[in-house]
Amino acid sequence: MNPFKDFDTFIEAETNEENKKILIFIKMRLTAVIKENDKLRFLLAKSKADCVYCGKPAEDFSKCTYGFPGCPRADDLMCGDDVFSE
Ligand SMILES: [Zn+2]
Repeated sequence: MNPFKDFDTFIEAETNEENKKILIFIKMRLTAVIKENDKLRFLLAKSKADCVYCGKPAEDFSKCTYGFPGCPRADDLMCGDDVFSE
C-alpha cells in the first residue's frame, strides 16, 4: 500500500514549480520520519520497558488489558525487523 498515492496525485497536479519542489521535499521528509518512527516503535515494543499504551511490564505483555494482540504494542512489534532494511 502506498500511503502517498493521493499525495503523489496532488503533487503532479501542482503547476507552480516552486510549490511542487516544496511538496516533493515534504514527502521525502515525511517518508523518512515515518520510517524512523516505525523503527523507534519497534525497538520500544521489543525492549524491556513497560508498555507505553497499557503500562504493563514487558514480561506481562500477554496479560495486556487490551488483550493480545489488541494492545497497540503488538502493532508496533508488527513493524518488524524489516524496518531496518533500506
Ligand atoms: Zn500494552
